[in-house]
Amino acid sequence: MLEKEIFQIRQKVSKWKKKGLKVGFIPTMGALHDGHLSLIKKSVETCNKTVVSIFVNPAQFGPEEDLEKYPRALMQDLELCKNAHVDLVFAPDSKELYGEEQISNNFFTYVVPPYFYIDKLCGKTRIGHFDGVCTVVAKMFNIIQPDFAFFGQKDFQQLVIIKKMVQDLNFPVEIVSCPIIRDKTGLALSSRNKYLSEEQTKDALVLNKILANIKSCYQKGIIDAELLRETAFSFLNECHELEYLEFVDKETFEEKKEADNNTIVLIAAKINEVRLIDNCCIV
Ligand code: AMP
Repeated sequence: MLEKEIFQIRQKVSKWKKKGLKVGFIPTMGALHDGHLSLIKKSVETCNKTVVSIFVNPAQFGPEEDLEKYPRALMQDLELCKNAHVDLVFAPDSKELYGEEQISNNFFTYVVPPYFYIDKLCGKTRIGHFDGVCTVVAKMFNIIQPDFAFFGQKDFQQLVIIKKMVQDLNFPVEIVSCPIIRDKTGLALSSRNKYLSEEQTKDALVLNKILANIKSCYQKGIIDAELLRETAFSFLNECHELEYLEFVDKETFEEKKEADNNTIVLIAAKINEVRLIDNCCIV
């Protein structure tokens, strides 16, 4: 079920498509957890065939980021995929996708999202990140040609940007948005949680606590985004480095000065150098 070459994956998927089978696709960077598995489950339930890609994409990491130490667990991931009834896992190396170990000097064509979508939130600090994401997802869509692709709301900005890319560039794929999966304490699952010690995992709960508190303040009638943002500070201590806490409209993606029922609140913070993100709808 594991394929590493574009040629092989294309052959297999095209056989399915000739038979009229619907193909679901879940792009991932591996180190799979229950968040990824929820996307896989949805695909297995709704499509005839499910393809998962596992690729730690160098194009979406900045020079100071954690590309080298990003968790890799291919054998374990394959086992999880097998148990989840995945039909194919596409795990190419960088050479297969970009021509060299990292990105070859001969790779030039990037998909660059509109400025409006990247001048905020993660795009502000992770310069070029969404160019890398869109480029690899566009490549994967061209290679796999899925009918449906499943993305988590955990990476809300990514989801919005991918939907826009698909619309603007006419990819014949339907993007399916899937809810955030959390552990029993409320922490949003993330491959990067593996970096956290037990103590730091408790510190990481601050993201969810801040969001839950903002939601409850909104429900009590506070709508001013600045006032809502200020409520976060009582939760933060020296272990937490808040990167952003923003309010945007979930449809238009415009920043909100006053929260309303269409508002989504997004947060990014470093917990002892581990950068985590989370978000929630305010109603
Ligand atoms: P990643 O491997 O981190 O690139 O994530 C691959 C896909 O899984 C993306 O669409 C993510 O949004 C999604 N994902 C990651 N964590 C979660 C989670 N806790 N709940 C739901 N989806 C998730």
